[in-house]
Amino acid sequence: RHPRRPDRLLQLLIDIQQARGCVPADWQAAIADHLGVTLAQVRGVVDFYHFLSAQPLGDYCIRLSDSVIDRFGGSLAMRDCLLERLGIEPGVTRPDGRVSLHVTSCIGLADQGPAALVNGLPLTGLTPARASRLAALIERDVAMADWPRGWFEVANHIRQPGMLLSMRLRRGEALVKALRSGPEAALDAIRRAGLRGRGGAGFDTALKWRLAREAGGAARYVACNADEGEPGTFKDRVLLATRADQIFEGMSLAGYVIGAERGLLYLRGEYAYLLPHLRAVLQRRRADGLLGERVLGSGFSFDIDIELGAGAYVCGEETAMIESLEGKRGIPRLRPPFPVSAGYLDCPTANNNVETLACAALIIARGADAFRARGTGKSRGSKLLSVSGDVAVPGIYEFDFGATAREVLAACGAVDVQAIQVGGPSGVLIAPEQFDRRIAFEDLSTGGSFMVFDSRRDLVDIARQFTHFFAFESCGLCTPCRVGTQLLTRAADKLGEGRASDADLREIEDVGRLMREMSHCGLGQTAANPLLDLLSRFRPQWEARQRSLSDEAADGELAGAGERARP
Ligand code: SF4
Repeated sequence: RHPRRPDRLLQLLIDIQQARGCVPADWQAAIADHLGVTLAQVRGVVDFYHFLSAQPLGDYCIRLSDSVIDRFGGSLAMRDCLLERLGIEPGVTRPDGRVSLHVTSCIGLADQGPAALVNGLPLTGLTPARASRLAALIERDVAMADWPRGWFEVANHIRQPGMLLSMRLRRGEALVKALRSGPEAALDAIRRAGLRGRGGAGFDTALKWRLAREAGGAARYVACNADEGEPGTFKDRVLLATRADQIFEGMSLAGYVIGAERGLLYLRGEYAYLLPHLRAVLQRRRADGLLGERVLGSGFSFDIDIELGAGAYVCGEETAMIESLEGKRGIPRLRPPFPVSAGYLDCPTANNNVETLACAALIIARGADAFRARGTGKSRGSKLLSVSGDVAVPGIYEFDFGATAREVLAACGAVDVQAIQVGGPSGVLIAPEQFDRRIAFEDLSTGGSFMVFDSRRDLVDIARQFTHFFAFESCGLCTPCRVGTQLLTRAADKLGEGRASDADLREIEDVGRLMREMSHCGLGQTAANPLLDLLSRFRPQWEARQRSLSDEAADGELAGAGERARP
């Protein structure tokens, strides 16, 4: 299935991993030979992605989601139960090859965790009883097709639809209009609507499309970033499950405007179970003449391929994603040049988030004015929020930009809230006195993750987990991030253990500042945010932690002294 081209390397390795349970070391030279790459490149890619392995994984490969929200639901107890019942260590395949368990970053199911993937299929709503039963089924080697169906159900949990989620477009509705009006008019509609990228950065979509359109070169590409790896976010999962047609339509529109003939949807490996659905939608669009040669009889030809990721958070960064699309390790590129002039295969590439493309189709189908009428002056339209944590009803909430964090809390039934992590670990942790801040690019800018922590939660421990997450996901390219995340991890551990000195606190600030200024991509630039926000906004919480553990230690020493004093 894979042509002999270097850019097929990652996809070929994913196929081999799925078929064989590993990428055997003694196959790698043949793979290199087949694709015309070096053995070092093959090894480098296998080492880079968390979901690839040269060592055989278990016939049942369990990947347990490990976000703070999964832990709220007791995922650590579930992990311990599975390890004990199956007689395994984390990350080590059992000698009989039957099973392995791996702890992985958030798999995009924070609304129905604790969750796991078993051989790529999602298991939601894990309970201790379900974990025990899962272990028993694996021990009896029961085929997954015979496991309880309900275990694999993924609910969409659309709790509050707004402009985007309440309107159903007819297949091809936007594309027909665009083909009638021409690419300039379509681009102008996107510009008038004021659409900005929904991935978090908020770049002007019309400007991006115009730059890609005006860039030189024989070929252009559209890329759709469906690699939502920010812990706590899952809105793209729901859009892909419920609005795939609209997303593909948005990709076609982008292709029409910039003059591309090919689009690539980069789907995070954790969402591989959505592939059959997405491929079926693509097939329907081809059958309806909406994709392929001469779309709807016009002079515009365009088709879309879906490429899989393999478990690497950093691939959400747009240039890392492009590297990954080219089959390489997902290491962010130096910029400039920017992808609009030299992206995929060094050709002009318009790279947009899933939600942005769905909005683009809505704008062309229903007009720029309705879109522009909502939101704030600098943030037009609406935003999907993935709400999780200590709320009565987790799920997807769509708000017009400008809604306050307090309004979101009221909608999802949150009480006694101590803090909200807006935008995931790389975003911002806000305290109650900031709950009137607005969801908008000019205030609380977010890709969509909205995690709520009530007064029971240990914010020090949460910041510590986020810091470990960044250290785990750092690609290691640049020194400030590679070393800085390790230093921050050490400081976070000391803070968590109640033994952070003033020098440690200063180090967090100094390292954080250095990383923000010197790191190559957003991961390193934001990795210190959880600790810095904790230190600056939640002083009583972390100070109490230091005192209480010091007191315990002092009590222990006194007790020990008493023991020793006894005859
Ligand atoms: Fe890699 Fe971190 Fe540098 Fe980004 S900041 S390129 S993740 S080492």
